[in-house]
Amino acid sequence: MPCFPQPYTSTVSHWQQTNRGPKSLWDHGRDAKLPTEIVDYVIVGAGATGAALAYFLSRLGGAAVGKKVVILDAKDVASGASGRNGGHVVGQSWQQLTPLMAPLDEGGAGLSADDAIDVIMFEQSNIDLVESIVQSEGIDADFWRGSRVEVLRTPAGAADNLRNYELMRKLLKTHPKHKGRVLDWEIVTDPVAVKKLSRTRGAVQANRIPGGSWHPHKGVTAFLRLALESKSADVSFYSWAPVAGFSQEADGTVTVDCAARGKMRARNVILATNAYTQHVLPELKDILVPVHSHSSLITSPASYAGPRALQTTFGLEAGSYVIQTPDSGLVVGPYPKALFGSRILKPDQVYGIDDDSFVRPEVKHWLANHCRDTFVGWGKEADGEGLTKCWTGIIGHSVDNLPMVGAVPGRPGVWIAAGYNGRGMALIHSVTRGLAHQLKTGQWDERVPRTFQVSDARIKRARERALHPLDYPVTGLEYRTIEKSNL
Ligand SMILES: Cc1cc2nc3c(=O)[nH]c(=O)nc-3n(C[C@H](O)[C@H](O)[C@H](O)COP(=O)(O)OP(=O)(O)OC[C@H]3O[C@@H](n4cnc5c(N)ncnc54)[C@H](O)[C@@H]3O)c2cc1C
Repeated sequence: MPCFPQPYTSTVSHWQQTNRGPKSLWDHGRDAKLPTEIVDYVIVGAGATGAALAYFLSRLGGAAVGKKVVILDAKDVASGASGRNGGHVVGQSWQQLTPLMAPLDEGGAGLSADDAIDVIMFEQSNIDLVESIVQSEGIDADFWRGSRVEVLRTPAGAADNLRNYELMRKLLKTHPKHKGRVLDWEIVTDPVAVKKLSRTRGAVQANRIPGGSWHPHKGVTAFLRLALESKSADVSFYSWAPVAGFSQEADGTVTVDCAARGKMRARNVILATNAYTQHVLPELKDILVPVHSHSSLITSPASYAGPRALQTTFGLEAGSYVIQTPDSGLVVGPYPKALFGSRILKPDQVYGIDDDSFVRPEVKHWLANHCRDTFVGWGKEADGEGLTKCWTGIIGHSVDNLPMVGAVPGRPGVWIAAGYNGRGMALIHSVTRGLAHQLKTGQWDERVPRTFQVSDARIKRARERALHPLDYPVTGLEYRTIEKSNL
């Protein structure tokens, strides 16, 4: 059943609220007629994936030089997860090792140690690519680069973190691709140093790794605008053009059905539809699962403003992710496990839901108290401080915990880049650069982990062996303990 046009009105994020002036791309091409000739590339989705792919295709030397690229979105630019996220532009540390190496039927990605390290290093290197493009193109999107602090708040979490740290160091020494890499990462175990670095109650250990943030709506808009302004390729964008489906033609082209907007023909169709993919590619139902997720803007009191504002981004075990915006306070979102663990939500209130029109009052309540309960010395909030805005967005979760990239099996001319499991800003630019390379050369970009490649075998394996998120075990005790210890 088609997801678009949506019968409801989505919530509005801080990022969407603060990027809707005349320079934004709202409503771009909304009333224009779709091209009638066969085009070279149709990209479905104008989030970070669609915009970055259009950018890479349309650069000098890119696959679309001298060719025509059309971007279609069911709504506006960055109206999906890309305009509703937490603004973090960097992935996690060695903490990912265990989940990446855990078997599929235990909710992991089932990777070998070498492949898991490759994924972590790939994710960490993405920020270099984003930073270099932001600088070379002069993108104004509040891009910031510094440190991310991962705070461990349970003895079990700290022990697990230490194990993963030791394992990562050991594996890196002999890794075929990353041997010898010097990392600017540290683990902090001294209680005084942990307290100072984390500024949070109940912290028992911390990691300091490279961090970054940006205004994702401005960032995506800038990438899309650069593509539209390309002098090498003919790029156009049509907002409010929902794709109802597509079909393969005998001549190798693909017909794209845009319902009321008409039909288009393309030599290549690239699905940048992330959490909504199952509606146009039903074979990925239960493989690429929508996840209903909350985020918020929290206006910090004077105790956390100016010189006392946060100097790093945060990931709090069984809690939240936090970034400091340049002007507006903090963007804070709960990790699903924190909500399950403290019995605020059940998994079926999160997984399988792609409706971002509502905020759950119980999550809003949790967010309203979270910073005060968590940050040392937060203090009393004046009228206008504290929880200022709360919104939702839909994460695309692949059940084998890896992005899905490349040619869609059994669908000639159809490609995909999706399923970033809540870490798209840390993956998308390197993934789409790789996909643009593949579209040009026919070859996989070896900088992108091979484990991201979508194939019949991978889909079959995921369907047969991967744990569906609704079946994840929910362990509540330790998270409840944290919540209580913070009160
Ligand atoms: C609350 C929240 C917090 C997050 N925090 C972070 C974070 O801090 N750091 C991080 O790295 N990641 C974070 N993420 C994840 C990140 O936002 C996503 O991984 C990323 O935005 C995915 O980008 P995308 O372009 O692939 O998908 P989306 O941004 O969802 O874009 C998909 C687009 O496709 C369009 N579309 C779908 N179906 C159709 C159709 N049939 N026809 C036409 N158009 C269609 C949609 O309208 C949408 O615009 C978060 C996500 C959420 C929801």
